[in-house]
Amino acid sequence: MKKYLAITLSLIIILSILCLIKKDKKETIKEAKKVLETTPLSSYSFYKEENLDRYKSYKIKFPTLKNKDIILRVNIGLDHGFYTETKEITEFNILMLINKYNYVTNTFIPNDLVLVESFSKEDMFLNRECKDAFIKMAHDAEALGYNIRAISTYRTIDYQENLYNNYVKNDGLEKADTYSARPGYSEHHTGLAIDIDNKVLSFNNFENTKEFNWMMDNAYKYGFILRYPKDSSITGYIYEPWHYRYVGLEVANYIHEHNITFEEYYYEFIDK
Ligand SMILES: [Zn+2]
Repeated sequence: MKKYLAITLSLIIILSILCLIKKDKKETIKEAKKVLETTPLSSYSFYKEENLDRYKSYKIKFPTLKNKDIILRVNIGLDHGFYTETKEITEFNILMLINKYNYVTNTFIPNDLVLVESFSKEDMFLNRECKDAFIKMAHDAEALGYNIRAISTYRTIDYQENLYNNYVKNDGLEKADTYSARPGYSEHHTGLAIDIDNKVLSFNNFENTKEFNWMMDNAYKYGFILRYPKDSSITGYIYEPWHYRYVGLEVANYIHEHNITFEEYYYEFIDK
């Protein structure tokens, strides 16, 4: 008899807890809807009227996210998942965004592609402005005793296709997608991205070098940002301590200071 009583009592407790959790979730959704109704999303300069329904659905899905982040994330395309509703980018621009939603085709060639004449592992190419900034950075670093070397810069779509297909063959599609871009979707197609090592350790150990710490403190002063930071929920890529993107001094400064991704910068200030 005592045993049944104990079981019944435990069941009642578990059910009460479940009810409380459900009620809590309902309250949060209600709260989210209220916030959307009372705070005008349209007061943000990057609000897009055509995305209103998507903002609402996203807010209900992530009720604790701030309205600003709801708008930015939906504008980035994150509510639709990576590699869906993609867009072709045809024009070169120092602030162009190539990611899992924006791609280039074989006809795209970055402006002013030049040889990286030093601080590189082999013959490789970058946009001239990016190359000049990189050489200056590597030169200044060298004077202080740091070895900064480019190991991968501009890539053609054919090259990326080979690379990506090999990764998929070895690791499967799902895992490969976390660390390698599909052909056309790689930032390396822009001539504005550089993978770096310190000539001693392999690039995937770059985080454990004094050069990495120097880059963290100084890369932005030359116009570079760490493109794939630790939280990958926005970029869709794992943390890549070796991959840097040239965006110019002003933007690099802002991104460094506010600790945001290039996607967030792009949809707040460029694609409005
Ligand atoms: Zn890279």
